[in-house]
Amino acid sequence: MTVSALEVASLSRSYGGKRVVNNLDLLVEPGDIYGFLGPNGAGKTTTMRMILGLIRRDEGTVRIFGEDDPVKARRNLGGIVESPRFYPYLTGRDNLRIFAAYTPGVTEGRIDELLTLVRLRDRAKDLVKTYSMGMRQRLGVAQALLGDPKMLMLDEPVNGLDPAGMKEVRELIRDLRDERGLTVFVSSHLLSDVELLCDRIGIIQDGTKIIEGRTEDLVEAGESLEDAFLRLTRPGSGEQIR
Ligand code: ATP
Repeated sequence: MTVSALEVASLSRSYGGKRVVNNLDLLVEPGDIYGFLGPNGAGKTTTMRMILGLIRRDEGTVRIFGEDDPVKARRNLGGIVESPRFYPYLTGRDNLRIFAAYTPGVTEGRIDELLTLVRLRDRAKDLVKTYSMGMRQRLGVAQALLGDPKMLMLDEPVNGLDPAGMKEVRELIRDLRDERGLTVFVSSHLLSDVELLCDRIGIIQDGTKIIEGRTEDLVEAGESLEDAFLRLTRPGSGEQIR
């Protein structure tokens, strides 16, 4: 029996009496590049923060590669929620060294390897304040990979990037999956980018899942993912999971 990479069951969270994540189930299989979509305020960031253990959940379970003990489970998960934050007056390498101090067993060799992987080796000595947004996103990916997780969780990794920067991040994510076998969970509003990148998609609205499945199965003939998203999230659309 294969173990799922991420299994979220009946996950809920309220703020001030309002349920912002409501009885949510999600399933991500090993090797998926999974796109997590939803309109503004749908509950994506809250869900990702619960999965990463950054905030408590009111109800529900989160299993990562079969493990539901939160401390053990998170050893297999690296992630950045909200844009990566770095010390602008330190170099890229020194920023990674600081984060490495919180991650057991990270050697200088591992930092070199990650800088090469995210194509920042030749800029590692430069201050982060001189980095483009794309370079910061890639440094964020390196940060998330410090602990050598099996799954990577990224919140809007291409937000604010120009087309070349988006393509670079997309290629990096695909390489991480194809060459290193990583499972990647990525939230985004950029549906054309998601359509190019993700094999499976989950869409939530008002904290509730409205559909989950393979990208090609959610998109009808002649439709773009954007058309499908607008159709599925239209008020009162009442679409069922096919
Ligand atoms: P976006 O696409 O705009 O980033 P999102 O899908 O990530 O949205 P969340 O940020 O998870 O949505 O927010 C879901 C709901 O929860 C929103 O109504 C938001 O106002 C509310 N919310 C989120 N964090 C808090 C908080 N700390 N206190 C109170 N309400 C919150």
